[in-house]
Amino acid sequence: MEFNVFEYFKGYHRTTRGPMTPEEQGTPFFCAGHMGERITEHLDGYAARAGLSRRNFIGTASGFAAAMLAVNKITGMNFFEVSEVEAADPVAAKEIKVSRKPGQDFIVDAHTHICTRKDGYVQGVNTTEKGMWFVQLLDDLGKSMGLPNGTKDMTPDNFGKLILEGSDTSVAIFNPFGFREDYGGKDMIPMEEQAEVKQRWPDRTLMLAGGLTPNQGLGPTLERLQMYVERYKISGLKLYTFDSTPKRGWWFDDTKLAYPIWERCRKLGVKNIGCHKGIPFGQFMARYAHAEDFDAAADDFRDLNFIAYHSAWPYHAEIAALKGFKPQRTNLYCEVGSTFAATVTSRPLECAHVLGTLLRDLGPDYVMWGTDSLLWGNPQWQIEAFRKFQIPDQLVEGHGYPKLTDEVKAKVFGLNAARIWNLKTTAQAPLEDRSRIVAV
Ligand SMILES: [Zn+2]
Repeated sequence: MEFNVFEYFKGYHRTTRGPMTPEEQGTPFFCAGHMGERITEHLDGYAARAGLSRRNFIGTASGFAAAMLAVNKITGMNFFEVSEVEAADPVAAKEIKVSRKPGQDFIVDAHTHICTRKDGYVQGVNTTEKGMWFVQLLDDLGKSMGLPNGTKDMTPDNFGKLILEGSDTSVAIFNPFGFREDYGGKDMIPMEEQAEVKQRWPDRTLMLAGGLTPNQGLGPTLERLQMYVERYKISGLKLYTFDSTPKRGWWFDDTKLAYPIWERCRKLGVKNIGCHKGIPFGQFMARYAHAEDFDAAADDFRDLNFIAYHSAWPYHAEIAALKGFKPQRTNLYCEVGSTFAATVTSRPLECAHVLGTLLRDLGPDYVMWGTDSLLWGNPQWQIEAFRKFQIPDQLVEGHGYPKLTDEVKAKVFGLNAARIWNLKTTAQAPLEDRSRIVAV
């Protein structure tokens, strides 16, 4: 593939001291990309002025701001709305950060996971060699983001601590992984184990079902879907069109394998159907990460919403075209988990193009926030980065992208998800309660 999303932190910070501040997660990530050396030089200058060591400075709000300011200076484009005073003065930076907190943003993280199961992942015992590729990648990612034990730390406990308490996230939507052929005949994250998250935080979470793999047999797949609705009261699906069966994948527009699932969804009142698209990782085939199978499905099931997770990046132009050239569509959505995080620090121009393309072609009402945490530990640094991110004027002029205004950010952060998942945002609630609104 043309790009391995994780290449920049393979072997980087492989073990950590444990939980980090959001800035300690985000700032080193800025320093790890190809601009890293130059960003670090800028950071050292600001750290010296603040009288702090680099290591201590990196963990402050100023360190994070200084990294963003350095990106603006190095590229000569204003990717981040950040001031000299924030970068230079940790106290001022903290005040600016706090003044933007909570209540001002209703944040729905449409893309979260736990990633652990009781019997773990042991190669040769319950995990194949290929299955370990995915586990290893998630382990490395977790370790670089403050989870010292990788996937073993991606637990319901940490879901509560890092996403629901440790970040400004109001509501988190989570989903399991299937691929049971690679994981000892049992889903990589079984529904029954992830259901604990919904039980513990019923007002702050929505649970999506997954693991539906019609190549394992359509009959059992439909039975499973029925069971998910009846037993788990699911809020939608998040599926994977690549799979671990010998066929390796399937398509949403397959009238024999997939349409019966959508018809059953209709009957059962399951309206929101997501799919991992883009980011063709681990043991999975890239061809199934393309989104063109959404095309016919979206027209034939106009009462269902189809959501391209990861915004199909690096194939995001394909999902954007499915609306850009077919503006009559109102049931095509995307979500930015991992895509935003992987590009914003070291490829800000790409990040702006991806967001710009999606906002221009799918439209500001159809792009949703997501972080793919706990795979990325605490999502707060991503939230802070999105609050400050903007599409530079040159790109707005030259590509017709919308500006990333506060209004557009509010839609992306939560209002779009609130609309399709029927969440109450209670704008009238006292300011301090607004970020704690409940899922219904
Ligand atoms: Zn994910």
